[in-house]
Amino acid sequence: MAEGRRVGILGSGQLGRMLALAGHPLAVRTLFVGEEDAPPAAATARQVALAPDSPALAGALEGEVDVLTYELEHLPVDALRSLEPVAPIRPSVHALAVASDRLAEKQFLTDIGLSTAPFARVDDEDGAEAAVAQVGLPALLKTRREGYDGKGQRVVRTAQEARAAARELAVPCIAEGFVRFRRELSVIAARGLDGEVRVYPLIENVHRDGVLRLSRAPAREVSSELAARAVSLARTVLEALDYVGVLTAELFESEGGDLLVNELAPRVHNSGHWTIEGAETSQFENHLRAILGWPLGSTTTRGESVMVNLLGDVPTTPAMLAIPGAHVHLYDKEPRAGRKLGHLTFVSHADDTARDLRARLEQLPEPLRAEALSCFDATT
Ligand code: AMP
Repeated sequence: MAEGRRVGILGSGQLGRMLALAGHPLAVRTLFVGEEDAPPAAATARQVALAPDSPALAGALEGEVDVLTYELEHLPVDALRSLEPVAPIRPSVHALAVASDRLAEKQFLTDIGLSTAPFARVDDEDGAEAAVAQVGLPALLKTRREGYDGKGQRVVRTAQEARAAARELAVPCIAEGFVRFRRELSVIAARGLDGEVRVYPLIENVHRDGVLRLSRAPAREVSSELAARAVSLARTVLEALDYVGVLTAELFESEGGDLLVNELAPRVHNSGHWTIEGAETSQFENHLRAILGWPLGSTTTRGESVMVNLLGDVPTTPAMLAIPGAHVHLYDKEPRAGRKLGHLTFVSHADDTARDLRARLEQLPEPLRAEALSCFDATT
């Protein structure tokens, strides 16, 4: 095995699976760390069945990997630091520490001159009341750590509700002013070991109940000025963190056209799954290229893409494959209500791409069809 292409991934979910798959054509050998029995990454790579904070992990990885990366940000920072002598960790532990704590993240974003929703720290019930007085009502209380897909969040409309939410969540939180956004966007960018930056075009995302349902890329109605601001925002974050790898910024576009950063993900992201078929280089391959010190690939699109998440109730594989141009990705997970089990991408080169993509979504079996169409129609 050639030196320099053995990648250890902390985490064993679908992002790890797709990273490993992207590595196969490049003879990248991946090994993932996760205790779960038969996780999504299992079929694609070798598993080290230890927890990320196991004291035995450094020994198990010694001499086995050239670089370490992670596919989730909810990792114990101290444990990760103890792996630094084993192999370089990319993106850095510092990037993870910033992105895994909503308060540190928002402070960092403000410090580097980017806009966010108004925010304030909440450590207890009195603090919750003071925080919503500062950020305004309605507000969201969000746990500082471990929250994802809308979990660990409460919308509060009064000071009393803010107190109750702080009591229920019972962990350090932040309060955020409720943003009346025009739409949700994300920007995904890669930075190489030599500092080279490549940015994918803005993506428009539709969430329901805090969970991503559909992404469209490139987002429509993006002026060259807005596109340039997104690129500059991504660059600013990447450079401030001396980042190596793929990073995602989830954004709100305000009614006035401002870009507010909702959250940073120090990793490949669900809103970038369309890049597998819809861009010249996928986010997964670009992440591997970046962390291995290889040249980054083109982020140019191959048409217009729509990505639909398959949550809980998935149509049969033949029913999806019968739709022309359907790219079906299944994560090999046990079905459970609301669980992300896979995704589906369509890429269009037609003259009227919007019409063409909608016509493809119309062929999905119910209830996915109605859900996908309503999300698609909610995009600009
Ligand atoms: P998050 O877990 O922070 O990514 O939030 C999940 C979803 O909740 C976002 O994609 C938005 O749809 C919504 N959301 C989060 N924060 C806010 C906010 N400050 N104002 C309005 N909506 C929000």
